[in-house]
Amino acid sequence: MFIELTDVDLIYGSGKGKRKLGDDTLAVRSASLSIADGEFVAIVGPSGCGKSTLLKLIAGLAKPSRGVVRVGGEDVVHPLKTVGMAFQNATLLPWRNIRDNVMLPLEIVEPHRSRQKLDRDKNLERANGLLAKVGLSGFADKMPWQLSGGMQQRAQLCRALIHEPSILMLDEPFAALDAFTREELWGVLQELWSFRKCTIILVTHELREAAFLADTVHVMSARPGRVVRSRSVDFPRPRTLAATFEPRFVELVHDLRHHIHLETAA
Ligand code: ADP
Repeated sequence: MFIELTDVDLIYGSGKGKRKLGDDTLAVRSASLSIADGEFVAIVGPSGCGKSTLLKLIAGLAKPSRGVVRVGGEDVVHPLKTVGMAFQNATLLPWRNIRDNVMLPLEIVEPHRSRQKLDRDKNLERANGLLAKVGLSGFADKMPWQLSGGMQQRAQLCRALIHEPSILMLDEPFAALDAFTREELWGVLQELWSFRKCTIILVTHELREAAFLADTVHVMSARPGRVVRSRSVDFPRPRTLAATFEPRFVELVHDLRHHIHLETAA
């Protein structure tokens, strides 16, 4: 497997200087998870159950207190460079236009950073290609404030992909958007993924979103979180919004909701 978590615990606060008893938070306990190369997985579960923590563990931004995290056959011991991230808030730099925001990771992440000048034309082409894919061709020279929330999220997806990461992590990327914009962006993300195949891990509260986008949906228990159910989703691609009204889709969403409800009630 490309990404493999085996029996992982994560305790926040452990090992950092003097602490009062009870300061530690056991965020994740005995979590195991396998993700194939190029797979699109969604992680759902009750609020505060450790979903974002799982992302941090895989990205090497948090160190497991117990257990092993492996990516590409190697233990994760420092932050991975081959990860792209997008969050609920687009966090575009307000003083840069959209194209320059999208190209920002190339100024930070090696080896792109050292090759910036050499690769300028290729990078520009890549940025323009991604912007075209998400329907922002005419907006590359605009400033972030000139774009709607949904358009800013489209730009954020491009920025997360510009350095061609092997893993794209999305933490509630559409949560702040209205329902119509959100569903529109499911299609955009699906299209982007078919064009730039990478492994995607999507953390979401929206079970329809998880079922629409993912190959596999992993349900986490209440904190301390671990994966308690994994459902593969075999609906044909590209998926359409019309398909979300079909009985098989509705049944899947009910099943996921049922399991999360059991966890919340436990
Ligand atoms: P989720 O993404 O499922 O909402 P998180 O992974 O963000 O959950 O958090 C899991 C638990 O760990 C929560 O109880 C949260 O308050 C706690 N937590 C998250 N980050 C930290 C941190 N840096 N220090 C201490 N506790 C944290």
